Amino acid sequence: MSNEIRQICVISVFPEIVNDFIQYGVLKRGQDKSLINIESINLRDFSDKNGYVDDKPYGGGAGMVLQAQPLIDATRYAKSKIKNSKCIYLSPKGKKVDQELITDTANNDNLIIIAGRYEGVDQRFIDLEIDEEWSIGDYILSGGEVAACVLIDAIARMIPGVLGHEDSNKDESFSNGYLEYPHYTRPEIVENISAPDVLLSGNHEEIRKWREKQALLVTNDKRSDLIKKKLS
Ligand code: SAM
Repeated sequence: MSNEIRQICVISVFPEIVNDFIQYGVLKRGQDKSLINIESINLRDFSDKNGYVDDKPYGGGAGMVLQAQPLIDATRYAKSKIKNSKCIYLSPKGKKVDQELITDTANNDNLIIIAGRYEGVDQRFIDLEIDEEWSIGDYILSGGEVAACVLIDAIARMIPGVLGHEDSNKDESFSNGYLEYPHYTRPEIVENISAPDVLLSGNHEEIRKWREKQALLVTNDKRSDLIKKKLS
């Protein structure tokens, strides 16, 4: 699977959000180079005979719920187009997404991503069609489209050839379990603060050691949980 073009399809009532997002930077380059194919499906194209995709929740309560049948039909259509895909419902109740999950997905899976709206989706749709529920964090978004954009961006960066410089994601935070070392660029002095001498020395081995040490210090300072995880 890792050498095939990665396919991602997002099902949403606001596909424009994703369609606009993927027109820029790394995502555009990945598509232009045919390393990743991203498409979206408008859930409203699968609306019921009255043109609706949502209804009031059984049992009462605030808001609307996306109906099962349009979601089932749209998802089965996507599955017929993208073979061997994993079907993900984005939900605050889902498994928390981290770099490990992103890297694993970039290496192995085509995705069909369902972006919810309103109060969420009819549970029967999840039971019938969804492989996994994923959350991008312990907070509530108004819709899954932004979460889908987060996923797509993070996955695309991990596909070989998508980033301009092949080493670009090698030292990045989380890539080896630590946070990244600090960066400096021109000019050499800013408001009387000099860039570290070692970075100007041209000594690659010393620079490598300095960066390694800084990565450890930064991680210990900001995310000591990562150090504990690494040592466990
Ligand atoms: N009523 C739901 C609950 O309390 O769990 C929240 C619904 S939320 C307003 C609408 C949609 O946004 C969800 O169906 C989901 O697709 C998306 N969403 C919201 N927060 C998310 C998160 N943290 N991660 C992934 N998707 C999220």
